[in-house]
Amino acid sequence: MTATLALTGSPARALKCRECGNEVPLAPVHVCTECFAPLEVAYDEDALRTVTHASIEAGPQTIWRYAGLLPAGQDEATRVDLGAGMTQLRPAPNLAKALGMRSLYVKDDSGNPTHSFKDRVVSVALSAAKAFGFTTVSCASTGNLANSVAAHAARAGLRSVVFIPDDLEQGKVVQTAVYGQTLVAVSGTYDDVNRLCSEIAENEDWAFVNVNVRPYYAEGSKTLGYEVAEQLGWRLPEQVVIPMASGSLLTKVDKAFGELSRLGLVEDSPYKVFGAQSSGCSPIATAYENGWDTVQPVKPSGIAKSLAIGNPADGPYALDTVRRTGGAMGHVGDAEIVEGIRLLAETEGLFGETAGGVTVATLRQLLASGAVDPDAETVLYNTGDGLKTIDAVAGLVGPTVTIAPSYGAFVKSGVA
Ligand SMILES: *Cc1c(COP(=O)(O)O)cnc(C)c1O
Ligand SMILES: [Zn+2]
Repeated sequence: MTATLALTGSPARALKCRECGNEVPLAPVHVCTECFAPLEVAYDEDALRTVTHASIEAGPQTIWRYAGLLPAGQDEATRVDLGAGMTQLRPAPNLAKALGMRSLYVKDDSGNPTHSFKDRVVSVALSAAKAFGFTTVSCASTGNLANSVAAHAARAGLRSVVFIPDDLEQGKVVQTAVYGQTLVAVSGTYDDVNRLCSEIAENEDWAFVNVNVRPYYAEGSKTLGYEVAEQLGWRLPEQVVIPMASGSLLTKVDKAFGELSRLGLVEDSPYKVFGAQSSGCSPIATAYENGWDTVQPVKPSGIAKSLAIGNPADGPYALDTVRRTGGAMGHVGDAEIVEGIRLLAETEGLFGETAGGVTVATLRQLLASGAVDPDAETVLYNTGDGLKTIDAVAGLVGPTVTIAPSYGAFVKSGVA
């Protein structure tokens, strides 16, 4: 790797192996050379302790208000920013009522620049990539990551080469291609695409957001934990329900809550983390169901393509997080996902993508089984925009009636 290190002003101290604890200097690497387990960013605790409510609140209305808790992007010269973050935390009283809950919020990440939570991770990953001196960035994507990498690269003057499975929703293909970057469709599943990218990463001096700069990428998800705590008035919710693809987001919301408690930025209060998957691709939730410690890879199917990772890198860590916090996992079929999308839209005026439908439907399932407490304050994460996965509901909804442009036709339609 020819890239050089320059994470100026970063509170990150090293990369640390999640299994053996081996530490290596901050660099574009992602696996431990001792045991091949994934590396994670470790911080200088004293640097983190300089962050206060006031220092955060003085920051921009983006993820960068938490720059003091992130591994890259402190230096504005290398910060890659489209304005991700500080999305709405919406009270959802109508959905709560429909589900028989007392207090429910939706953290709505469809409000991000490219309409999914991926803008958070990409903004941090590309800031690291730029600081390390890369000029080409790349990724394997189930769709949303592709959108976000291409958009951020366009803005930052980086070249991007994005790899996707060739069966993605048109909305996601077009929203990647429109940024004028390189898009490679591969005839295979996400897991095939990811394997291909790992091979390319060995030979090209590119920053792959989900390969060699993955440790930095993953930290961007912490901001979904920080924001919820800040938006609740600097406290933690009692329950969170999170969709899982690789499982990374779920583990990082927990990491964020843990940091805020440890740093004294919130009171240390108990919370439970719940994970949601589609039955078409539920390797993590199936492992949970069966009490396994390891995750058996699956071949994905079904409409929730953004979550279709059959061999999820963070699966075992997501299992640990859910078990440690006393949460649970569930998975739901395509029909339930569609019902979930429609329920969120009809009760809260919020059109989520299939991942949102997965999360709503899984919440309903976990309420029915008694795993989720209907009286505890709960935050549900809607991670993407329904306009990207229109096909999921397009055949089921449409005009109530089509009429000629005359008052007579209107009267006859019975709409009034
Ligand atoms: C990527 C993605 C997720 C979850 O990703 P992880 O790999 O589990 O971090 C959730 N929702 C949407 C819409 C996504 O695109
Ligand atoms: Zn190791």
